[in-house]
Amino acid sequence: MAEIKRVGVCGCGLMGSGIAQIAATAGCEVVILEAVQAALDRGMSGIKKSLDKFVEKGKSGDGKPFTAADRDAALARITTTTSIGDLKACDLVIEAVVENMAVKKELFAALDALLAPHAIICSNTSSLCVIEMAAATKRPAQVAGLHFFNPVPLMKLVEVVKTIVTSQATIDVLYAFAAKVGKTAVLAQDTPGFIVNRLLVPYLLYAIRVFEAGLASREDIDEGMKLGCGHPMGPLTLLDFVGLDTTYFIAEIMFDEFKDSMMAPPPLLKRMVLAGYLGRKSGRGFYDYAGAGPK
Ligand code: NAD
Repeated sequence: MAEIKRVGVCGCGLMGSGIAQIAATAGCEVVILEAVQAALDRGMSGIKKSLDKFVEKGKSGDGKPFTAADRDAALARITTTTSIGDLKACDLVIEAVVENMAVKKELFAALDALLAPHAIICSNTSSLCVIEMAAATKRPAQVAGLHFFNPVPLMKLVEVVKTIVTSQATIDVLYAFAAKVGKTAVLAQDTPGFIVNRLLVPYLLYAIRVFEAGLASREDIDEGMKLGCGHPMGPLTLLDFVGLDTTYFIAEIMFDEFKDSMMAPPPLLKRMVLAGYLGRKSGRGFYDYAGAGPK
């Protein structure tokens, strides 16, 4: 297939808005589909703010020079809709809606019925089985995972996820698209956690176990991994960023698939989630964010 020119993005939340932003900045025409207008308004205002910051800095997330004219051109390439029919002319659609298989399968089937035969459909899922979404379509060889990282405009990696039926031609197109939007692609198999979360989640869960067992204070666990391993932040701080509920959800899916005790959510994680201690987004996780900073 020729180059990807028109990209559809489903969902304009945290991830979808970032994906739409980098695709438009790279010169693609972008159509964003949302379930609700309010989410489109929120997402577009986030995109504008992010692009304004790049204009201030004079460079975009991938370090390329970035001007007010670049921002205006990127914004002009984005259109928004709440009607799926407007995605019809897209060469590639990236789904970034809620992490719910039933919702994703329904969307994949509707996209399959709508899109031209050459179009590729991808999911940005962090933990769900991509082949299950592919099986809801009549083009499973043209379905893959395209797993971006948060915040999308700044994080350099994308995991291209190959199911057991994704074609090499599809993978080649996605690698070219990743390069176009300034990301480095790595190839992962369609198993829970792909590469990064398969390694990261057991590490984060183990940090909770060390804390839960009273082996060290939260500050010392974080300081230890920062200074001892050169990580930009410690595991408990990172958990607060990611969200304890999100981590719990992914750990449950990974444990369910692998039955490996390394992936089982520790009791403390479950209890913190039940208590509403979800991390930064709820004002409290391993640290307290209600005041000026972590306490
Ligand atoms: P989010 O809740 O911020 O956004 C999801 C958006 O999808 C919402 O605005 C919602 O209105 C919209 N939506 C729901 N159903 C829809 C439908 N049928 N059609 C169109 N829009 C619909 O979620 P998010 O954090 O952006 O996550 C989206 C996806 O990306 C999930 O699959 C998640 O696993 C994955 N992901 C998230 C992260 C992260 O750090 N948050 C990282 C990588 C991947």
